[in-house]
This record gives sequence, structure tokens and C-alpha cells, in this order.
Amino acid sequence: MKLSRYLLPTLREAPSDADNVSAQLMQRAGMIRKVASGIYDWLPLGLRVLRKVEKIVREEMDAIGGQEVWLPVIQPKALWQETGRWGVYGKELLRLKDRKDAEFCFAPTAEEVITDLARKEIRSWRQLPAMFYQFGLKFRDEIRPRFGVMRAREFLMKDAYSFHADEKDISDYYVKVFNAYKKVFERCGLKFKPVEAQSGAIGGSYSHEFMVLAETGEETVVSCTKCDYGANIERAEIKAVEPQRPSLEKPAVEVFPTPGATSVDDVARLVQATAMEFLKIQLYMIDGKTPVLAILRGDHELNEAKLAAALGTPAVFRASEAQYAEALGCPVGYAGPQGHNGVKLIADHAIKTVPLGITGANQKDRHARNVALGRDYKPEGFFDLRTATPDDPCPRCGAKAEFFKGIEVGHTFKLGTKYSTALKAEYLDKDMKPQTMVMGCYGIGVSRVVAAAIEQGHDADGIIWPVALAPFSVSLIVIDELDDARVRPAVDTLVRELEAVGVEVLEDDRDAKPGVKFKDADLVGIPFRLVLSRKMLDADSVEFKRRGSKDVEKRPLAEAAKMLAGLVKAG
Ligand code: ATP
Ligand code: MG
Repeated sequence: MKLSRYLLPTLREAPSDADNVSAQLMQRAGMIRKVASGIYDWLPLGLRVLRKVEKIVREEMDAIGGQEVWLPVIQPKALWQETGRWGVYGKELLRLKDRKDAEFCFAPTAEEVITDLARKEIRSWRQLPAMFYQFGLKFRDEIRPRFGVMRAREFLMKDAYSFHADEKDISDYYVKVFNAYKKVFERCGLKFKPVEAQSGAIGGSYSHEFMVLAETGEETVVSCTKCDYGANIERAEIKAVEPQRPSLEKPAVEVFPTPGATSVDDVARLVQATAMEFLKIQLYMIDGKTPVLAILRGDHELNEAKLAAALGTPAVFRASEAQYAEALGCPVGYAGPQGHNGVKLIADHAIKTVPLGITGANQKDRHARNVALGRDYKPEGFFDLRTATPDDPCPRCGAKAEFFKGIEVGHTFKLGTKYSTALKAEYLDKDMKPQTMVMGCYGIGVSRVVAAAIEQGHDADGIIWPVALAPFSVSLIVIDELDDARVRPAVDTLVRELEAVGVEVLEDDRDAKPGVKFKDADLVGIPFRLVLSRKMLDADSVEFKRRGSKDVEKRPLAEAAKMLAGLVKAG
């Protein structure tokens, strides 16, 4: 490809609303242009990278028996009503009407449509298992689209859905998908970690996220330093602590004034205590009417998903100020666990390490100390209710766990029968009895992978692509073409030789200063750079440099194509 004929509008400066490195570099390298919030054009160079990711994903999906399909982006409301998701998906689901006023949505995912296909077309156990996948545009009306294509509204996802006769079959297949995902991200040349995850709006019982490790990631990952345990912090389990020996002395509860001090930190400063000596409480309403008081240690944060799981309810909602006043008889910030009859109390394991706690006195501007577990309040149960901290050991092996930042690029779910029951997707078993299909679903954010690769691979000059994802493998910079008649034929020959051995080359034949060409080559991040100039031709050589390295080498021109083919193959 000749750069003089190619739409590669590189920019010195990134647009001011590009809010992370990949968004800046994708714009500067002429890969994307913003059309509206969270909606982008993909220019030729950007699309080449997207297609590289797509190809790797397709090969790995085919390798585990996936069958590629193409599902509609505009999907009828009726199907979404059958699963109940029309009502629960909220504003992320973009809804639209056709000329007859029939309602549709723009697909944020495709469980409804694929399960509808399966219920119509799969009849017998003989057709199972079956896995279908597609590369489909998704639209999610994200509250805060940001980071360019990383959290866009319109994006490209590879979504896959598998159908099975029973739980055992999906469990076996899940492992295959898991391994295929690992291969995808390895082949993309990314540093990543699969972690246990919450299943969120998609539902299901068991799920993993694939995280590309990058400082700029939005997700926090807990990772064991010894075993292979890893989890999204939303999900990371915490081992129950052994109760410390209760203090033998149990001084009486003492109430003291704390005017205006409502937070643990405020009161801790006032009484010169640490947050670990506090009992912190949070009131939630179950089904909108039953109050539940969660008790945590002062330095810990409540995890709402864990609270919901402990209570066996799909979601919990924080009580309003009025509900606080009604249930606990005091304003938010001054409540303690003691002295509430008729309010269900549940506690995080760690409060066992606070036998005598400092907490609210259930009166405005007052707190209390020496509030004793068992004497002054009795939780109905102890659960893992909090978010992990860097001090918590690995819940599997007890070794030290570390925190990392990550970008979620893939997500696998064991769905069970959530969608197949709702849509009555059944097959006939060997005894001709109808059975509900068991499902899995598996997504990869193809466009997000492109941005994640840049977050992981860049320097002050621009992008540094892994060879497997690079838009071109070689950037051939042409110098002195107008001054030396030998240059053009030599370039043409070299390009022909490179293409003959399957090396994709972008030839910078522009009438521009060498400095401009070098800068653009670095910005665009092509892994290998060759320079052909009068000086090089005098020596029958070509200049060679690897992106990201400082070493500039002179190599024999005649061997350049073979050398590059070897380097590209090695990755
Ligand atoms: P997130 O927590 O980042 O919002 P999600 O849990 O909503 O992701 P899934 O529903 O599991 O995402 O979608 C599958 C994949 O699609 C994700 O792993 C991610 O790579 C990608 N993805 C999700 N939302 C977006 C988005 N707004 N822009 C780009 N890619 C996205
Ligand atoms: Mg989301």
C-alpha cells in the first residue's frame, strides 16, 4: 500500500475530548474519528487492526466447533418481553419504533434472538451440542461513554452462544471456550488474566472475565501471588476470620457527643481511634419494605452484590433518609447496631475482630463506645459482605494477593436455563421426552481489544503494536526518490519481494521530509521499519529498525524480504 494513496490523517495533537492514551493515539494515528458521543468512524488503518483481531477470534471459535451466523441488530420488543428483559434492561437498551409504531431495540447482546432460533431449529439431542457465533454491532446507551472505542455506545462484539443437553455437557464445553479465549488473547500478543466475575445483567451462575492488564484499566483484579486464583474485585471472596479472643472485661456502653461528625473518619479523628475500631452500619430495604441492617468494620466497604447474595435476593436498595429515620429513629451517620428490635441485622465476618466497637448512638450528634457483639447486638448471621482490600489473603491458598488494574476484553458465562426456560427452547431426548436446553454465552469486545492493545503497548512517540495485530508489518520509508533514479525501482522490487513472502508493507512514498515520515511511522506503531535512500542503495543495503527499540541496523537489501518474513512469523 502506498501512503500517498491511503487515508491516513495523522494528527500532531489529540482532540481535547480524547480521555485516555488509546483514544488519543487512535485519533492521532488516523484509525478512528468521532461522529457523536461513543460513536466512531473506523478509518482504513483502524479497520485493518480490527480485522486482525476478528480473524484470530474467528479461527479459535471455528476450532472449537463454532458455526458463524449473522443476527439482526434491530430486534423485536416481543422477544425481549418473553424473557422479561424489556422491562429490566433500563436505559442502556436503545428502543425504537418503525413506521407502524411496532417497537424494537438495538441489540446490546443477542440471547433472545439466538435462543429463538434454537427453539425453532433444534429438535433433537442429535443436534446438540451446538455453538453459534457472530461478529455483530452492538449498541448500548452507556451512561458515560468514554475512552474512545473502549467504552463506546456502538461497538463490535464477537458474541457466541452454546446449547447443550445437560449441565455436564455445558461444563465440559465451558472449559473449551475458556481455553479458546486464552489462545485468542495469547495470539493477540496481550498480557492478560482470566478472573472469576459477577454475571451482571446477562445472568447465569458462573462466569469469567478476561482482563488485559493495564494501569489505565477501569476494573480492579485481585490476583494471588502463589496459586492461579484471580477475581474481579466485585466478586473476590474473602476468607472468614477466626474470632479474636473476646475481651474479658466488658465495660458499659458510653455515649459521647460528636456534633456534626457523621463519618467513621470524622469520629475517628475526634476520639483518636482508628477506623478498625469502628462498627459501620448501612440500612437496605428488601422488596422496598423490609429493612435490613448490614454491619461492617469501620475500615471496610460494603459490596452490594454480596449482600444481595447473602439475603438470597436479586438486588438490594439503599434506604432513603426517611426510611432510616423510620426504621432506626435517627439520622444517617448516627446509627449503631444496638437496640433495634424488629430490624434484621446481618454482619460481615470481620466485625468479630471488634468485640467492643465505636459506633453511632442512635441519636443525632452522639456516638457510643464499648458496643459489644453478643451483649448489645446480635446479628442473625455472619457473611462475606465486603469488598476485598490489599490486606486480604488469597481465599483459596491464603498466600498474599495483589491488586491489578485491568480492561475487560472478554466475558464467558454459564447461563444454565435462564433463557431457554423463558423462551421454551426444548429438544427431544433419546426417550423422545422434551428437555430444556442448557446454555452458555461468550463475548469478546473486538473493538475494545484494539484499544486495550494500545493501552498496553505505547510510548511517548506513539503506538507499539504486537506483531499479530499491527495494521501493516513493515513501514517502508522512501527517501531521495526525486533526487536519485535508482530509488523508485529498488522500492518497487522490495515491495514486490515483501508481498511475495506475505509481509504487509506500507510504503511511505509521500513527498514529505524524512523527519515527518519517521514521526508518523512511530505514531502508527508498525513493528518494523525499513528505510531506502540513496545512501543505503550505495551500499546495497536497507536500514532496519524495530519499533520500540533504539538500534538502527544496516542490512543487505537482497535479504530484507526473507529477514522480515522470519521476524513477522516469529511475532
Ligand atoms: P463492562 O463491565 O465493561 O460494561 P459488560 O459486562 O457490560 O462490560 P458484556 O455484556 O459481558 O460486557 O459484553 C461482552 C464484552 O463486550 C465485554 O467483555 C467487553 O469487552 C465488550 N464491551 C461491553 N461494553 C462495551 C462498550 N460499551 N464498548 C466497547 N466494548 C464493550
Ligand atoms: Mg456494561
